Amino acid sequence: MRKNVAKPIESPGHQTFRRAMRIAGPTMLLIGMACVATAFFDFFAKFGSMETPRLFCLGFLGIPLIFVGLVMTQMGFLGALARYQASEMASVSKDVANYMAEETQDSVQTVARAATRGIQQGLQPEPSRPCAKCGHANDAGDRFCGGCGEQLPSA
Ligand SMILES: [Zn+2]
Repeated sequence: MRKNVAKPIESPGHQTFRRAMRIAGPTMLLIGMACVATAFFDFFAKFGSMETPRLFCLGFLGIPLIFVGLVMTQMGFLGALARYQASEMASVSKDVANYMAEETQDSVQTVARAATRGIQQGLQPEPSRPCAKCGHANDAGDRFCGGCGEQLPSA
């Protein structure tokens, strides 16, 4: 059986395509922006006069060029962008996980400490009050002696 060799994600053709996109994308973007700018300035330069802004149609050419240029640039840089975002996200999520673990650790420790204290207090015998008459060790909250029934002085 053939061993599963890890294939390179980017084929040479893919890289050529991307390089072309990286050059063509910004170029188209610049041409488009130049067209829109020319149309814009032409429009305002001839706004007051009777002259028709003939270069205005360049704007309609420029806007799709900007759009296509943006898409091509995106395609050219998408891999790098995705990798960058992935690494950024990974470090951020790691930080969040660490932060949450630390925070949770703190609260868990607080709860555990409180529970332990409660259990310890529960296990500890309450301070006893011996009866003045018979000497029976009564609990602190008792109102009457457990041994002779004598009323105990309120604490
Ligand atoms: Zn007693």
